[in-house]
Amino acid sequence: MPRGAAEFDLIDRIRARVAARADVILGIGDDAALLQVPAGKQLVVATDTLNTGVHFPDDTAPADIGWKSLAVNLSDLAAMGAEPAWCTLSLSLPQADAAWLDAFLDGFLALAAQHDVTLVGGDTTRGPLSICVTVHGFVEPGRALRRDAARVGDDVWISGTPGDAAGALAQWREGASRDATLRVRLDRPMPRVALGRTLANVAHACIDVSDGLLADVAHVCRASGVGIEIEVDRLPASDALRIAFDEPTRRALQATGGDDYELCFTASPQSRDGVERAARDAATPVARIGRVVAGGQVRAIDADGREWQPARPGFEHFAQRP
Ligand code: ADP
Ligand code: MG
Repeated sequence: MPRGAAEFDLIDRIRARVAARADVILGIGDDAALLQVPAGKQLVVATDTLNTGVHFPDDTAPADIGWKSLAVNLSDLAAMGAEPAWCTLSLSLPQADAAWLDAFLDGFLALAAQHDVTLVGGDTTRGPLSICVTVHGFVEPGRALRRDAARVGDDVWISGTPGDAAGALAQWREGASRDATLRVRLDRPMPRVALGRTLANVAHACIDVSDGLLADVAHVCRASGVGIEIEVDRLPASDALRIAFDEPTRRALQATGGDDYELCFTASPQSRDGVERAARDAATPVARIGRVVAGGQVRAIDADGREWQPARPGFEHFAQRP
């Protein structure tokens, strides 16, 4: 599609702020990037698109959109146990708005710098706001954390405090005054890159929680041909979530809410010390929340081993504690 000077000006603004990396032979500016994959490593590639109103509330600040569009992608690399290296950015913008782009880049490049990820190319077009990011990383051959690697008898673990992002979304949908601690978990998810890498030698299967814990572990069940039992009462909850929601609502948010980008992984019970060490090395808390069993189903159970059902379906209707 022919484009005006405005789009090229945007590309120049992006290019001027991009950090260097020794393995980027040719970055932004040519028809394609030229990248040096380290000898003996496998290349890991993931891509995710964010659309306004679908993947983030439409009042989200541009810097937060920038952060999140890279974070959800780095989270996919984390879930593979990969070390991130490069990314590309395809931007569809309603108008060539330099101020919006600068703010977007503030968030995007801040997270990129934290993980030494370099932006090596992309595309800039006019259209409804949409952001598509692709990330590239490396893993030792045979060390990727795959969904099909869960084994019957494994423990199931989760990082962090799931449910916070869903809590923020529930509050936002209710139009209630927002809890800043929860909202930051929705707008600025922390991809668990360090944990993914330290787990690469100890965990079996791994997935990042984007759609909701129970929905996401179902993917592991399908890929691995196993069942998974989650003890809902063992899910670690943040103080902010405990304060903002009653217990049944909180449990439902934690078990079924998405957008946390925590890692859910399985490992042999013999590896419990190894998992704890990996978590310490990555400075990321983890908790044991269930086990891999025979069969193909996800079962959520309460502390007494009884079947657990979410308090109410769909979090639009979740009520806040008065
Ligand atoms: P082409 O027409 O050959 O696809 P473009 O004009 O689309 O080239 O892009 C010129 C250069 O700018 C390319 O190197 C491309 O990767 C880069 N680029 C375009 N848009 C972006 C963007 N949003 N982020 C990063 N790089 C971009
Ligand atoms: Mg192009």
